[in-house]
Amino acid sequence: MKSDVQVLVIGGGIVGTSVLYWLAKKGWTDSALVERRELTSGSTWHAAGNTTYFGPYAEMTQLFAGSIRTYLAAEEHSGQSVGFHQTGSLRVATTEHERALFNSYQARYDALNIPYSVVENDTIRNLHPCIETDDLFGAAHTPTDGHVDPSGATQALAKSARLRGAHIERWCPAVGLAQESDGSWLVETEKGDIRAKHVVLAASFWTRELAQPLGLNIPLYATQHHEVITGAVPELQALKHEVPAMRDSYVSCSVRQEKHGFLAGFYEDDPVFWALDGIPKDFTEELFAPDTDRLTTAFERLMERLPAFAEAGIQTVNNGPMCWTPDGLPLLGPVNRHPGLWLASGFNVGIGTGGGSAEFLAHWMIHGEPLFNLPIVHADRFGNDLSTEAAIESIKACYRQGYRLPQSI
Ligand SMILES: Cc1cc2nc3c(=O)[nH]c(=O)nc-3n(C[C@H](O)[C@H](O)[C@H](O)COP(=O)(O)OP(=O)(O)OC[C@H]3O[C@@H](n4cnc5c(N)ncnc54)[C@H](O)[C@@H]3O)c2cc1C
Repeated sequence: MKSDVQVLVIGGGIVGTSVLYWLAKKGWTDSALVERRELTSGSTWHAAGNTTYFGPYAEMTQLFAGSIRTYLAAEEHSGQSVGFHQTGSLRVATTEHERALFNSYQARYDALNIPYSVVENDTIRNLHPCIETDDLFGAAHTPTDGHVDPSGATQALAKSARLRGAHIERWCPAVGLAQESDGSWLVETEKGDIRAKHVVLAASFWTRELAQPLGLNIPLYATQHHEVITGAVPELQALKHEVPAMRDSYVSCSVRQEKHGFLAGFYEDDPVFWALDGIPKDFTEELFAPDTDRLTTAFERLMERLPAFAEAGIQTVNNGPMCWTPDGLPLLGPVNRHPGLWLASGFNVGIGTGGGSAEFLAHWMIHGEPLFNLPIVHADRFGNDLSTEAAIESIKACYRQGYRLPQSI
C-alpha cells in the first residue's frame, strides 16, 4: 500500500471511483483510493443504474450528460463493459403546467447539444405501448440516455484508473484524518497511515461521521428507498426494442425495463430515515426489510399508468439506503476551513451524476477552479450549524417532492 500520495480518495462507490478515474485521466496518477470493504459496497451495488439527462435544474444537466460520457470512455479504455442500455427516457406531462415547463427546457438542451424534444401521446404509445396516455399532455423525450450497470461501471472506472497508475486499496477503512502543520493530510487506515496533499471524502452518508472529529457538521443523512422488479410482461416480450424509462410525477416513480419485466423505484410521501444516531459499524452489503404497505398508493397509481404492471407480479423488492443533503443536491468542492479537504458526497442520484461530478471536481482540484460555474453544489453551502432536526425536515420535503417539478424554473 502507498503511504504518500498527491490525492487520497476515501470511498469506493461510483462517485469516489469516478473521482480517481478523472484524476488519473487528467494526469494526477499519483492518487489512491481506500475502500472500507469491496468497491460498490455502499449504495452503488443495489442501484437501478438509471442515468437520465432530464432534470429541472439546468445547471445539473451537464453533470448528467458528463456521467454517461465518463462511463463509456472508461469502458473503451478498460475493456470492461458498463452495461449501457440506450433506451432513452420519457418524462410524462401529467398537467398542462408540466407540459409548459417541458417546452421551456428545449433551448437549454439545444444549447448543450443534447437530443431533446417534447412529444405527443401517439409518439409515447409508439415508443412505450404499455403507457396509458389518456390523461397525459405529452412527454419530454431524451432519446440518448438510459441506464448502466452500476457495478460494471465502477469496475470499469477502477480498472481504467489503475491502468493509468492510480492505486486502489480495498478492505482498508479510513479511521481518522488530521491536517499536519505543513498543510498535508494524514489519514489513518486499518492498514497504516497515508499522507496526502489532498483528501476527497466520497464516503456518502459515512462522510458525516468521518468529518465530525474535524469540527465539521456536514448534513448528510440516509433514507430508505424502495425499488421493485416484476416478472416477465407479455407486452414487453412481444416488442423488438427495449422501452424507454418512464418518470411520472403523479405516481412519483421511475420505471424502466429489466429483462422482460419492469424495474420501478418509488419516492414516498413520508420517507423513513435510517441510522440517525450513526451508521452501524458492522453494516455490510445489506438491504432493509421491505415494507411495501408504504407503497400502496404508488402501486395503485402505477397500475393506472401501466396496466401491465398489475399482471406482471412483483418478484424482488430492494429497500436500500440512499444519501441525502437538505436540498437534495450533492456536496462537491473544497471545504474552505480546511485547505486540501474536498467533498464528493451526498449523492442520491450518484449513478446519474457521479461521472460528470467527478470530472467537475477533478478539474477544480487540478486547475484551481471548477470546470463551470455551479454554486448550487458547493460543499460549504449549508454552513456548519444546521441542526439534525432542520436537515431532516428539508430532506423530507425533497424526498416527498419526488418527480414533482418546482412551480417555475
Ligand atoms: C434502491 C435504490 C435504487 C437506486 N437507483 C438509482 C438509479 O437508478 N440511479 C441513480 O443515479 N442512483 C440510484 N440510487 C442512488 C445511488 O445508489 C447512489 O446515489 C450512489 O450509489 C451513491 O454513490 P456514492 O459513491 O456516493 O456512495 P456509495 O456507493 O455508498 O459509496 C460510498 C463508499 O464509501 C465506503 N466507505 C465508507 N466509509 C469509509 C471509510 N471510513 N473508509 C473507506 N471507505 C469507506 C463505503 O464502503 C462505500 O463503498 C439508488 C439507490 C437505492 C437505494
